[in-house]
Amino acid sequence: MIKRLGAVALALLAAIGPLVPGAQAARKLRVVTTIPDLKSLTEAVGDNLVEVDSLTRGTQNFHEAEVRPSMMLKLRRADAVVENGLDLDAWADVAIEGSNNPNIIRGGRGRIEISRGVEVLEVPTARVDRSMGDVHPRGNPHFSLDPGLAGVITQNIVDGLARIAPESRAAFEQNRKAFLTQLEQHMTRWTKVMEPVRGAKVVVYHPDFIYFLTRFGLVQLGTIEDRPGIPPSPQHLVNLIRQMKEEKVKMVLVEPWNDVKLANRIAEEAGAKAFVMATAVGAVKGADNYIAAIDYNITTLAKALQ
Ligand SMILES: [Zn+2]
Repeated sequence: MIKRLGAVALALLAAIGPLVPGAQAARKLRVVTTIPDLKSLTEAVGDNLVEVDSLTRGTQNFHEAEVRPSMMLKLRRADAVVENGLDLDAWADVAIEGSNNPNIIRGGRGRIEISRGVEVLEVPTARVDRSMGDVHPRGNPHFSLDPGLAGVITQNIVDGLARIAPESRAAFEQNRKAFLTQLEQHMTRWTKVMEPVRGAKVVVYHPDFIYFLTRFGLVQLGTIEDRPGIPPSPQHLVNLIRQMKEEKVKMVLVEPWNDVKLANRIAEEAGAKAFVMATAVGAVKGADNYIAAIDYNITTLAKALQ
């Protein structure tokens, strides 16, 4: 009896067998990204060949994302993970380990790090580690919203996706090219909009705009935090406000997850104004995708600094 059932099952398998390869080819790659900027860029590259989910939302402080069971569930089914690197999403290691998915462990085929080829800014000259509270021990990890780096980032995504789906490389390349052409058109406009305010000095709460500011010729006079991730001491704030007055700083950039009230108070005392920025895709209303987020920041800066 058992033997006969086995034979029936085999016959069934043989019958549906030829259908399977076709079904597999049509299945979208399941990609999980650690932050929403990378979700937007992976969607630009993968288009209808991928299904992308992010482990965090744009309104969060990525340095302090909490590993949840829901993250592990998303990761369990993933073909690939796209991560920022430089310790911004170090917590992803814990979630990935918990997901028990060999595709995406460090060194696995489906592990895609997008910082390869990025010239890292603010690399500490003295040794720092997280026990000192500094959350940028390997340099500043907030490069994803510098549109000038989108080319490098998307190339890393293409290479990573093509590793697990080599048959789609040409499509990924083509999507990337189309996206970069579109971005280039915006870039021309953004550069023009920022031209009149070049050289302006601004203050940032947490240093997450250094790549962006450098790209458009703006200067970060200081940060409200003492050091990355370390709350300000009263003395630091006194010095900062004095400097802001001397340099006639008009603008403080603040993250939606940070102490916006404190940013407002400091700005007011120094004769400036604080603005909540799109520190990531989805951080503020209207910044729903990569280009929209950058556009939001350009518009806000140009208006505040004019
Ligand atoms: Zn940071």
